[in-house]
Amino acid sequence: MDRTRLQHLLARESAEADRRNPRSKAAYARSEHLFGRVPMTWMNKTAGAFPRYLDTARGARVTDIDGHEYIDFCLGDTGAMAGHSPAVVAEAVRHRFAELGGATAMLPTEDAEWVGAELTRRFGLTRWSFSLTATDANRWAIRLARAVTGRSKILVNGYSYHGSVDESLIVVGPDGLGAARPGNVGAPCDVTLTSRVAEFNDLERLERELAHGDVAAVLMEPALTNIGIVLPEPGYLAGVRALTRQYGTLLINDETHTFSAGPGGCTAAWDLEPDVLTIGKAIGGGIPAGAYGLSADLADRLLSRADLDLVDMGGVGGTLAGNALSVAAMRATLEHVLTDDAFTHMSKLSERFEAGVRAGIAAHGLPWSVSRLGARTEYRFADPAPRTGAESAAVGDTELEDFLHLYLANRGILLTPFHNMALMCPDTTEQDVDTHTGLFAAALAELVG
Ligand code: PMP
Repeated sequence: MDRTRLQHLLARESAEADRRNPRSKAAYARSEHLFGRVPMTWMNKTAGAFPRYLDTARGARVTDIDGHEYIDFCLGDTGAMAGHSPAVVAEAVRHRFAELGGATAMLPTEDAEWVGAELTRRFGLTRWSFSLTATDANRWAIRLARAVTGRSKILVNGYSYHGSVDESLIVVGPDGLGAARPGNVGAPCDVTLTSRVAEFNDLERLERELAHGDVAAVLMEPALTNIGIVLPEPGYLAGVRALTRQYGTLLINDETHTFSAGPGGCTAAWDLEPDVLTIGKAIGGGIPAGAYGLSADLADRLLSRADLDLVDMGGVGGTLAGNALSVAAMRATLEHVLTDDAFTHMSKLSERFEAGVRAGIAAHGLPWSVSRLGARTEYRFADPAPRTGAESAAVGDTELEDFLHLYLANRGILLTPFHNMALMCPDTTEQDVDTHTGLFAAALAELVG
């Protein structure tokens, strides 16, 4: 890669973003009362010098306040995997909030049992509880796992992401021991007191860590999705299940992103048997919603424990969790939008996307790889594809990524800022995918010359 050429192209695209988006640029400059000028600090993770400001979003399309339309392959980094504001969800939410009223009444609605039954059909776990975010689903699942096992530690994979969960911000350090993930803000204690870590696809290390006998749960994604997509090698997930059983450790599958694999995520697609499953983002169709599912046996064991306060301030729950509005949104999303048929359509488009990216990479002989997980495709600047989170982190290239993101955004395509990832929604079309394929090829041609 000619870095001088890359830097020149990046500067050109940054100047073009300035020219195309004066209103977004001005709105950002004016935002003096926001921490980091944005409603949430991660919104500064943008390829340009300022974020594009949202105007409208519907299906697979987003418009910004400068009047540009985008084909959206970011889809809120999965929060909008059902497409933006699907009509049937909008109607269910309007009906619940405006007609029936009562989003925060502290009373259950009958929709909740429907959602629990549907999540059971999809994922196999039989007792469900709700949260507003995947982070909280993970936090509460971790607490329950500690309570039921009487063990203190949680094991995660290096460079996994499970939300802002204290226990999960651990990586394998240079000396091979667990260490705080770089940049960890205000850690409450040394993360090695609460956590253990093993690289994804490393069963030997996993067994060494579990053998200490202090790990309550392994919290993992069946495929890593937040450091590129890192797919499991043959036998790895079966090995994880066997080892967790052998050492009396619970297995929590976080399906928040891997839900892209199919209607029941990787758990159903690959016949996995977690003790607990967590999910968030997509299941509310854009309305905040998360959930965790337990086996009936685990649920019974927890409910029979008189010493655990599962009702008031015992540390599991939130006032707004399971509210009527998010439950209505989950029902509409699962019943009518992210259906089995929708996943078939989304996966097919994702295959087409993958083929387009592969062709572009092959045309220029670039040493890059492409990985796909159902409706989600991601490319990485390494070939063969990295097999652990650490390997994948090591091949990150922010300059290159920024150029590709800006090049595409300036021409009407959004990718997820934290990834080279594209997600399909039920409204994405073949034409959308082909538009990306054409622009991706053009970007590579400029890059390689
Ligand atoms: N789990 C996984 C696998 C995720 O990718 C994320 C967010 N990217 C989360 C949990 C946390 O989701 P949220 O920020 O909505 O709580």
